[in-house]
Amino acid sequence: MRPTALNPLFAAARTLPGVGEKTGKLFDRLLAEASAETRVLDVLFHLPHSSIDRRSRPKIRDAQLDQVVTIEAVATEHRPPPPRSRAPYKVLVEDETGDLLLVFFLANHQWIEKMLPLGARRWISGKLELWEGHLQMVHPDRVLDEEGLKKLPPVEPVYGLTEGLYQRSIQRAVEGALARLPDLTEWLDPAFQRQRKWPSFSNALQSVHHPQTPQDVEPMQPARLRLAYDELLANQLALVMVRARMKKLGGRASPGDGRFTRKIEADLPYSLTGAQKTALDEIRADLTSDKRMLRLVQGDVGSGKTIVALLAMAHVVEAGRQAALMAPTEILARQHYERLGALGETAGLRLALLTGRDKAAERKSTLARLAAGDIDIVIGTHALFQESVAFADLGLAVVDEQHRFGVHQRLALGEKGAAVDVLVMTATPIPRTLVLTYFGDMDVSVLREKPPGRAPIDTRAIPLERIDEVIDGIGRAIGNGARVYWVCPLVDENEDLDVAAATERADVLRQFFGDQVGLIHGKMKGADKDAAMSAFQRGETKILVATTVIEVGVDVPEATIMAIEHAERFGLAQLHQLRGRVGRGGAKSTCLLLYKSPLGEVARARIEIMRDTEDGFRIAEEDLRLRGEGEVLGSRQSGTPGFRLAVIELHADLLAIARDDAQLIHARDPELESERGAALRALLYLFGRDEAVRLLRAG
Ligand code: ADP
Ligand code: MG
Repeated sequence: MRPTALNPLFAAARTLPGVGEKTGKLFDRLLAEASAETRVLDVLFHLPHSSIDRRSRPKIRDAQLDQVVTIEAVATEHRPPPPRSRAPYKVLVEDETGDLLLVFFLANHQWIEKMLPLGARRWISGKLELWEGHLQMVHPDRVLDEEGLKKLPPVEPVYGLTEGLYQRSIQRAVEGALARLPDLTEWLDPAFQRQRKWPSFSNALQSVHHPQTPQDVEPMQPARLRLAYDELLANQLALVMVRARMKKLGGRASPGDGRFTRKIEADLPYSLTGAQKTALDEIRADLTSDKRMLRLVQGDVGSGKTIVALLAMAHVVEAGRQAALMAPTEILARQHYERLGALGETAGLRLALLTGRDKAAERKSTLARLAAGDIDIVIGTHALFQESVAFADLGLAVVDEQHRFGVHQRLALGEKGAAVDVLVMTATPIPRTLVLTYFGDMDVSVLREKPPGRAPIDTRAIPLERIDEVIDGIGRAIGNGARVYWVCPLVDENEDLDVAAATERADVLRQFFGDQVGLIHGKMKGADKDAAMSAFQRGETKILVATTVIEVGVDVPEATIMAIEHAERFGLAQLHQLRGRVGRGGAKSTCLLLYKSPLGEVARARIEIMRDTEDGFRIAEEDLRLRGEGEVLGSRQSGTPGFRLAVIELHADLLAIARDDAQLIHARDPELESERGAALRALLYLFGRDEAVRLLRAG
């Protein structure tokens, strides 16, 4: 159970002053996890990304142009525009050193008269400029009387926004949220906290939201470091607990005798690469031993992870047990089923597909056969997690493209049988620091080598203005039998807009190429997605217009051209994943990065790296470097996925400390029963790692 002290923080943000239905929706769009409602906590964790310094209080004569100043002056003259004119309303204000004009466009006259009565002393904050030789301030940020001045923060926090939401609304909600911060028992080790000179959790939040100097909002300040550490500690502690639980449940030996795996290998139209063989040796050793396997297979796109998964699963079946392969999307689950089904069945394995879309009767029969042990290998989506799914004897769970799944889902699968071995396969070549973050202590097999005979992909950057030439070129290519992916960009992380963009692009391309153009996006019904995908696979459509649903794992070896529209909007890892969809057969492939000019510095660097290399590991390192240097912090895209306050690129040294801390905590107080243990439970809840609490005896 969640400690009751935390309740105020888990209340809906709509209970905060100034947050009504409309603002609430905007907050949901900005802050809430998908399909959830913003909580008070989410508001508190929305940290300012910068600040406005209002401490400068010069006399008019000494005020600098183009920087924020707060000027004390008296209103001496109102100059309303003539009736029906669009000219601005101006107000002359003076101090003993000079005067300046305040300029208001399309303003309500009464409002101005009330705000700036003649003869009244006001504090006016904003940027000064010179216009026709006269000092002016257009739309001051603040016009305050003496009372208002007292409340003016010397340094004002600036938050990431979404359209329709204003700084003031966020500031107000944050104030309300800060007022609800309970007194929480400290969970940090006291000596460590003292040594670092870190404030308490609630003081840290107070100080980040109430900066006294512009530096106070920077990510390397003590308050920010403390909050980042809290999040990293919660993450590491949860991982340690999960790992310990898995170890405690123990493992079982699944020795294979090679009767299925040898057959499958013999049927392959190629021989395994050295890297695949090494990974399989490592996996088989784990499976054969009675320790529980928790292994990550890291292999760049196209490195051939799928066959490794099949051979690992076949090994477990040889030991008389079952295996499950879980994919992040319906499309991928189906693709795996089709590919592996043929290979596996020839070898004598019984395979089944289980997704959220199966018809009731079909599903019932699959479930019954699974429970009876009449299915050896089941392939599916997260539908496999559901409670109704029971196995006769699950020996191995393979999770493909893991980064989309959370710790709790991994747990759910691990609980599906006694001592389930877990194999996680990820296509993103994650740098070492991130492996630690996401997976804790996992054993890692790396597929560095790619299958032989892959021609390098010709990657070109082309400005969008030349889209006509690109369309001509694609016309010639499909005339020669090529197949083309055309990926449309993310628009504001808004799926509806993505879909609109893709639909529109498909319409345009159809004007040239008629029904050779297919379309696939995330909002389509499952069956329609399959139809679009398989029409492209069979070559009935030659061009597949897609949103990023094709990013992960889709395998159509005949496709040789990948066009990415608005490439500047994609991250490096994403571009690399997308490009990995081509260059899979023997034929020469091309990747066209269509960009909107002018390119920003970071976008240009990304595109250059893409042209430079196909090595996913190098790309991942460069990605980390660019993210560290480039983008504004505090905005969601640039933070570390799965983290809200910690930025791995910046806080990597804290991660290592948090990991040691978590191990020590676990060694001393595995059930979190001490006073610090209770405080740490609260920490796990605060950062959404409470699935780990359920592993405790008194959870
Ligand atoms: P990923 O690692 O991205 O999941 P896949 O498993 O989808 O890659 O494999 C990509 C392609 O490479 C598939 O078409 C697969 O059949 C092929 N492949 C896998 N291993 C080999 C190999 N050793 N030699 C040649 N082709 C291979
Ligand atoms: Mg794959």
